[in-house]
Amino acid sequence: MFHGRQSPEPELSEAMPLVRSRPLPQLPKRPQETVSHAYGDCRPIDYTFVQMDPREPLLSALVRTRRAYLVDLDGVIFTGSRPIPGAGEFFDALRQRKLPFQLITNNSTRTGRQVSDHLKGMGFLIDPEDILTSPEATAVYLRRDWPAGTPLMVIGEEGLVRAMVGAGFQLTTDPGHAKVVVCGLDRRLTYERLVRGSSAIRFGAAFVATNADLALPTEHGFLPGNGATLAYLEAATGVKPTVIGKPSPVMLEIAMARLGVVHQETVMIGDGLHTDILAGARASVATILVLTGVATIADVAHATNPPDVVTGSIDIVRQALIAQV
Ligand SMILES: [Mg+2]
Repeated sequence: MFHGRQSPEPELSEAMPLVRSRPLPQLPKRPQETVSHAYGDCRPIDYTFVQMDPREPLLSALVRTRRAYLVDLDGVIFTGSRPIPGAGEFFDALRQRKLPFQLITNNSTRTGRQVSDHLKGMGFLIDPEDILTSPEATAVYLRRDWPAGTPLMVIGEEGLVRAMVGAGFQLTTDPGHAKVVVCGLDRRLTYERLVRGSSAIRFGAAFVATNADLALPTEHGFLPGNGATLAYLEAATGVKPTVIGKPSPVMLEIAMARLGVVHQETVMIGDGLHTDILAGARASVATILVLTGVATIADVAHATNPPDVVTGSIDIVRQALIAQV
């Protein structure tokens, strides 16, 4: 469903390169009539299109008019450790057509290289440069305001530490010295680390977070995520963090800057309404919700930011792509 957004396009953030490689065709307007579709055993819905056929016009129009793809990982290309059928071929189709893409993950514990290796274990051949992790995005964001050498305190794991060191920051555990506290998931979190972090924030350090996911789905059930740590630090200091990962649009803006594309030529594919699709809406990129992950078609009914298109899986997007002449 295209909303034909009525409000003027928001301004891009400063320092976003505006590279437009070709004219951008207009998407068709949202149809005026209400159309009902049934998906699986769900009741028919009358507020969106579920694009189960790659030849359906809205999905088809979207892949015809967008050339850059931002793709979530879990629930879109794999679930747990199982690849989703057609996902590997989707990236082959993008490469054959020279369509740029970035895989975008809120995971703050792994480096891009580690994510790439993890994907390789499932049969996906994705270069680390085609992956944007929340620590990498956070590093780009921080370097806009803080020069190399700025003392910074990390609460987090290897992926975050490496991203901050790689961006030239000087790591410190001294609350009186840190200019920034950057917080990602830390599975060896201690009271002492929380004390140091909250003291630094109270002394005036900026409080920045890779992501705010409250809980992590695992084979052992839901485990506390970085959002739970942020809630602790916020309660202790009264300071809200600046969050970089989805649903913040910052991560998508950084991914588009990496690709040298603008929001009008970009599409976000995700399985989460409150993360991927909301981030896409905030970054003014078109969105495709796939039903292979957390969101169900029933959830779309209650979504305050419904996606532009709902489809069964990334394989249907691939089929729509290769059906283009
Ligand atoms: Mg996901």
